[in-house]
Amino acid sequence: MDADRGQLIKNLLTEINRGGVRDRDVLMAIATVPRDAFVRTEAQHQAWENRALPIDDGQTISQPLIVGLMTQALNLTGNERILEIGTGSGYQAAVLAELAREVVSIERYSSLAETARKRLADLGVSTVRVVIGDGTKGWPEGAPYDGIIVTAAAPHLPQALEQQLSRKPGARIVIPIGSPDDQELMVYERTDSNLREYTLGPVRFVPLIGEQGWQE
Ligand code: SAH
Repeated sequence: MDADRGQLIKNLLTEINRGGVRDRDVLMAIATVPRDAFVRTEAQHQAWENRALPIDDGQTISQPLIVGLMTQALNLTGNERILEIGTGSGYQAAVLAELAREVVSIERYSSLAETARKRLADLGVSTVRVVIGDGTKGWPEGAPYDGIIVTAAAPHLPQALEQQLSRKPGARIVIPIGSPDDQELMVYERTDSNLREYTLGPVRFVPLIGEQGWQE
């Protein structure tokens, strides 16, 4: 069983490495965080496959390749304070916790937030703070952030997030932007003079619902 699990993890790393996740620390974090602890009992056998899986409240835990690409895009060195919008299962937050100093993660469903909190505590992850609310408004109490990651699809970059991003060059926001059906995975990076933007390619996320997102 354990040998099998090790092989599944190895296969997943090979696949996401081919897909563009080259940062060794990010690959290590994905190998370290037990994704099986974040998926439902009936999906256990698929926990280490490179696919999105259903969680509660009609939401999904993202595909590991996308988690890897988004995490890699933040270019973490270990000292950062990160804001995540869309806690979901808590998996992406746990991966970030391996690579950054502190993570604030916002979820609009209190049931998902509570389950994620409990899971993270059980795994001994103490540097993630899960809060309940509308993440399109960010979390001003914790601003400025060195990186912001949005794991739900937005119609545009919420202004509050840009305001809560550190002014330091290199600070980044990673966010899927587009229609409810398909989006571009956008990166907005602070430079000395402005916000430089580029895309990592097409993605498909569940909608970001809130004041500066989609209406319910
Ligand atoms: N990062 C998660 C996957 C997120 S799925 C993981 O690793 O499992 C997207 C999540 O965003 C869902 O849980 C959804 O409820 C949440 N969400 C959608 N709009 C939101 C908003 N305005 N504020 C906070 N969370 C939101």
